[in-house]
Amino acid sequence: MTTDARPGLSGLTADELAAWVKAQGEPSFRARQISDAIWKDGGTTEAAEVRTLPGHLRVALERDFRLDTVHDSEIRVADGGLTEKVLHRLDDGELIESVLMHYPARGASRERHTLCISSQAGCAVGCPFCATGELGFGRDLEMAEIVDQARHAARRLATDRKRLTNIVFMGMGEPLLNLDRVLAAVEALNDPKRFGLGARHITVSTSGVVPGIRRLTALGPQFTLAISLHAARDALRDVLVPLNRRWPVAEVVDAARDHAHATGRRISYEYTMIGGVNDTDLDARALADLLRGDHAHVNLIPMNQVAHTPWQASPMPVIETFAAVLLEAGVGTTIRRNRGQEVGAACGQLAAERAGEPPAPAVARRRERLVLASAAALRGERSEEPAPAMVGGEP
Ligand code: SAH
Ligand code: SF4
Repeated sequence: MTTDARPGLSGLTADELAAWVKAQGEPSFRARQISDAIWKDGGTTEAAEVRTLPGHLRVALERDFRLDTVHDSEIRVADGGLTEKVLHRLDDGELIESVLMHYPARGASRERHTLCISSQAGCAVGCPFCATGELGFGRDLEMAEIVDQARHAARRLATDRKRLTNIVFMGMGEPLLNLDRVLAAVEALNDPKRFGLGARHITVSTSGVVPGIRRLTALGPQFTLAISLHAARDALRDVLVPLNRRWPVAEVVDAARDHAHATGRRISYEYTMIGGVNDTDLDARALADLLRGDHAHVNLIPMNQVAHTPWQASPMPVIETFAAVLLEAGVGTTIRRNRGQEVGAACGQLAAERAGEPPAPAVARRRERLVLASAAALRGERSEEPAPAMVGGEP
C-alpha cells in the first residue's frame, strides 16, 4: 500500500490555487486555466492533458498535486443501465462507493442524474441494517476525495453530453462527523466557478448528530437536510441507529424543527421499512404524532437486502398502510423505490464483499443479538449498551 503525500488539486480553494500559481512565478490567469481544466465537465485527471499550460507548469502541477484521488474505479451497471454503482480505491487502499442513478424524463419532470457520494470510508455509527455500519470506521475522507467522486461521474456523463443534476450525501459514512470537509466539499460543488451545482440540488443525510445539525442551522441554508429516523420510539431507534443512545429522537427532531424554522427549508426524514421491526401500526402512529404539523416530508424506503441481518424489507401493502397513517395525519409522505438491488446498491455492500466474509459463528451471534435487541425494543425496553464512540471526532 502506498500513500501519496501530494494533496488533491480539487481540494484547493481559489485563493490557495492563486497562491500556488504566484509562488511558481506565473501570471495570475494561469489559476483560472488550471481551475477550468479540473472542473469543466468533471475535468482531466492528467496534468499532461492541460494543453492551455506551458510544459514546465504542467510538470510543476504534476510534482505538487494529485489531479485525481479516486482510482481503479470499478463500475457495475444495473436496472437496465439506469443505476451505476462504482467502487473507488483511495491512495491508502481504503475502498469507498458512489452510485449514479439516471431518471428519465417523465411527464412534466425533466430527466435527472443523481449521484450518491461517500463522506467517510466505513462508518462508526453501526446501524445494523447497513452494510457500511458493519464494516466499521476506516477514516474521514479528504475534501478532494469527496468532490473527486462527483468529478468522476461528471466525466462519465459528459461523454453522453449530460450533466449531473443532483448530489446526495447518502453513500458511506456519517457526513456530520466529517463536517468541516463536507462543508468545504459542498462549497466547491456549489461554486459556479468550480462544480457549479445549485445548493437546492444537494442533500446531506445524517443519522442524527445533533451538534452538527445545530452548527448547520447557524450557517443558514446550505443544502437540503435529510434525517435518517427509521423509528419514532427511542427503544427501537436505540437498536436501529445506535447514535440514538447519545442523541434521542426528541432531541434530533427538535434540532431538525429549529433548522426548518431558521432556514425556511423543509426537512426530509428517511425511514427504512424493515418487516416486523419498525413497520407496525404503533410505529406509524408514533411517527405521525411526532411530525404532525411540522415542515417535514417522510420518505419510506423498503430495506435493501444486506448480508448478516435477520431482517427483510416490509411487504409493499404494509408500507402503503404505514404511509396512509402518516398522510391521514397530514404528514407529507412518499414511498421510494430502491435502486440497483442486484448490484448491491445499499452503500457499503461492494466494499463489504471485498472485505471478505466474517467467520460463521460471528455472523450467527450478530443475527441472534439483533433478534433479541429488536424483540426487547418492541416490548419498549431501552438498550443499555453505550453509544458508539465518535471515531470521526466531535462535530
Ligand atoms: N450516514 C448517513 C448517510 C449515509 S446512509 C445516514 O445514515 O443518514 C444513507 C441512507 O441509506 C440512510 O438513510 C440509511 O439509513 C440508508 N440505508 C442504509 N442501509 C440501508 C438498507 N440496507 N436499506 C435501505 N436503506 C439503507
Ligand atoms: Fe453509518 Fe448511515 Fe450506515 Fe448508519 S446508515 S451505519 S449512519 S452510513
